[in-house]
Amino acid sequence: MSNRQNHATPLRVLLIEDVEDDAQLLVDHLESEGLALDWRRIDTERDVIAGLQESWDIVVSDFSMPNLSGTRALEIVRQHDPDIPFIFVSATIGEEIAVKAMKSGAQDYIMKDNLARLLPAIERELRDAHVRRERRHAEQILRKLSLAVRQTTDSVFITDASGCIEYVNPAFEELTGYTADEIKGRTSAVFSSGRHDAVFFQQLWRTITRGDLFKGTLINRRKNGELFFEEKVITPLKDADGRITHFVSTGRDVTARVRAEEANTRLVSILEATPDLVAIFGQEGLLRYLNQAGRRLLGINAGEEVSARYMHDLVVEGSARQRMSQALSAVREHGVWHGETVLRIAEEKELPVSQVVLAHRNTDGAIEYLSTIMRDISERKHYEAQLQYQSTHDRLTDLPNRFYLMDRLTSALEYAKRHGEYVAVLFLDLNNFKRINDNLGHSAGDSLLRQVAQRLKSCFRSNDTVARHGGDEFTVVASAIKNSEDVLVLLQKLHAVFERPVVINAQNIYITLSIGIALYPHDGDQIEELLHHADIAMYRAKSSGPNQYRFYASDMNARSHELLALESDLRLALEHEQFLLYYQPQLDLRSDRIIGIEGLIRWQHPVRGLISPADFVPLLENSGMIIPVGEWVLRQACSAHRTLREAGFDNFRVSINVSAAQFNDDYLFERVNRILQDEQMPQQMLELEITENILMKDPVSAAEVLRAINALGVRVAIDDFGTGYSSLAYLKRFPLDVLKIDQTFVSDLANDPSDAAIVEASISLAHKLDLEVIAEGVETAKQLRFMRTHNCDMAQGYYFSQPLPWPELVNLYKENNMDRN
Ligand code: C2E
Ligand code: MG
Ligand code: MG
Repeated sequence: MSNRQNHATPLRVLLIEDVEDDAQLLVDHLESEGLALDWRRIDTERDVIAGLQESWDIVVSDFSMPNLSGTRALEIVRQHDPDIPFIFVSATIGEEIAVKAMKSGAQDYIMKDNLARLLPAIERELRDAHVRRERRHAEQILRKLSLAVRQTTDSVFITDASGCIEYVNPAFEELTGYTADEIKGRTSAVFSSGRHDAVFFQQLWRTITRGDLFKGTLINRRKNGELFFEEKVITPLKDADGRITHFVSTGRDVTARVRAEEANTRLVSILEATPDLVAIFGQEGLLRYLNQAGRRLLGINAGEEVSARYMHDLVVEGSARQRMSQALSAVREHGVWHGETVLRIAEEKELPVSQVVLAHRNTDGAIEYLSTIMRDISERKHYEAQLQYQSTHDRLTDLPNRFYLMDRLTSALEYAKRHGEYVAVLFLDLNNFKRINDNLGHSAGDSLLRQVAQRLKSCFRSNDTVARHGGDEFTVVASAIKNSEDVLVLLQKLHAVFERPVVINAQNIYITLSIGIALYPHDGDQIEELLHHADIAMYRAKSSGPNQYRFYASDMNARSHELLALESDLRLALEHEQFLLYYQPQLDLRSDRIIGIEGLIRWQHPVRGLISPADFVPLLENSGMIIPVGEWVLRQACSAHRTLREAGFDNFRVSINVSAAQFNDDYLFERVNRILQDEQMPQQMLELEITENILMKDPVSAAEVLRAINALGVRVAIDDFGTGYSSLAYLKRFPLDVLKIDQTFVSDLANDPSDAAIVEASISLAHKLDLEVIAEGVETAKQLRFMRTHNCDMAQGYYFSQPLPWPELVNLYKENNMDRN
């Protein structure tokens, strides 16, 4: 009632009273006692019902009224609110009725002539009502709480302070299998699984009896003996004095989750223990997980983050990356890919692996992540390579066997077809092997074959293949042959290496060979055909005595004899002054004046007459004679130039051709320099012509030589441009002055539009690179017109003049100069 004593808040009183004066009397009395009132008087059932829509602190009612009985009024009020205090104030009420009224729920009755009791009664009843309301409220909450406990899916039980179970909810019954009746009065010891030791429970008990919360996961036993994992919270309940009266345990079965976690941990530990690389990565290719073996292989520390690495980065660059892209798209389509690839492991090493990639999808079928397993197959690869080697090589000599030779021949032919080169197939047979084998024994024979194999190999380039065909027969595939004459060089080399004896058991043994040669494309363009023809040629060689060679094509035999004869004559040519230098004028297309002459060598053979350089320059090159002969050419050209200079004509250049052997000669620079001085030749008047192939062979040292020549002031021209594999863009790196467009392009101008396009493009590009352009082999007026329209600087060819002997050239030159003067 204490809150009612607040005067600011008047007491709300509903008065049920038919006599207005009586009501007023009552109000006056209470107000005179110091109570502030907010009241209303009513006296019908309808008004009571309506009045109760508002809230009242207390109802004070007459007992007998004409329109409404007090009992009925009480009944209505109680229906509406069981707690609101109801006091009868009546004049007529007798003892008996008063008792009845109290029984039916009135709190008190007061006689109208004894109003002094009213205020204490009101105060008391308000107090009681307050308590009643509180209690009812508490009961409601309790009802809700116990409902919640009953209905929750968590298992709940409540024990007394000693741990005896007083209450369990249905979820508990379901979880443990015990009914409430069975379990009440017992302790939680009945759930014990034996999986926790006594100390565990002592600590638990200590925690909760101290008044603290226990949280933990226990392994418990159901009534049927089954074990389960229970995630449990035990809360001590305390009374007002802080004494623990009860414990509430809530629990949840987490067996499934624990089992899943255990399974997961097991799987992860398997992944971490496997020697295979296992990785998980996202759709975008970024790594999400890499196992220990993977980290070890790739050299990634245990703690290091991998999420910034791409799957692609793991494999080596090039084809392996391409394969990875293909694998990923295959996986997206089919869900799985397996194959072999190469992993880029720590320290820049490579590891061949077999790989499986899997796509993992979510329930909607969309790919969530990809996984891969890679297994080291280096050992297998090693054995495969060994096996491969054994199946392709001869065990005795370590040379390729004939099966492998077929492979090599196939690719040599393919290459030669594309590049317009020759391939030579040589069949070699040891003439005296059988005798050696019979006389000295097999191991001597073996040793001989091994030594022969070594010597054979030394004659050929690494791209060529020397194979053992079987027994004492060997086969050679020599590729990248530009001229058929180059084969002669090979034959000479072979001859030379076997001039020395082979030493077996301290005995000198001289080896002689029968050699048969077939040339692609001359003698066939199929493997079997070429091998067969080389074989036939070998038998022909054999039948004509020991140490002979035969070409399959008879014209080659004739030609090779001729060439060999020529070669011996050539050795004397320089000494006997049989070389001549012819000169061909080069015309400036703007002034039509001769501004240069090219020196071209000729050989005046005493029997065969004038021989053109195509027939002997290669022989000079192969024999090394080109160096002294080249020097002769240079000196000849410079002294010729000097005679014209001394006659007053100094407005032209002389160019000479320099071969690869000369260009790579260490003394080239010195020779040129000496001759320039001897002949007092202005450096810029001399031009050296080299072919682009010379540059391409060893661009680094070529650039060095060119820079030295350039520093000397001598000009350099690229001869036969367009026949090699270089490009103008590439030539840009070298200090060059002139580009000579090869005559094959010039001669075909009219017939082949692509040649016209090449020439046109070459001229304009060369000009952009500050190179002068000269067209070689101009034979017709039409070709000349083309060159003029396309701004070619110079031309050279039969249209103006053939290469001429010096006196004739001088006449032509003077004529040309006089015309202008
Ligand atoms: P090259 O330096 O490209 O010389 C041009 C060749 O084309 C010359 O052949 C020349 O006579 C020929 N020629 C010139 N105008 C025409 C024409 O209008 N139509 C046709 N069909 N041909 C024409 P040659 O004199 O037989 O020389 C052949 C090659 O021999 C030269 O080609 C050059 O590479 C080499 N050579 C010539 N003299 C020497 C030399 O002294 N030393 C070296 N190392 N090689 C030389
Ligand atoms: Mg030339
Ligand atoms: Mg040329």
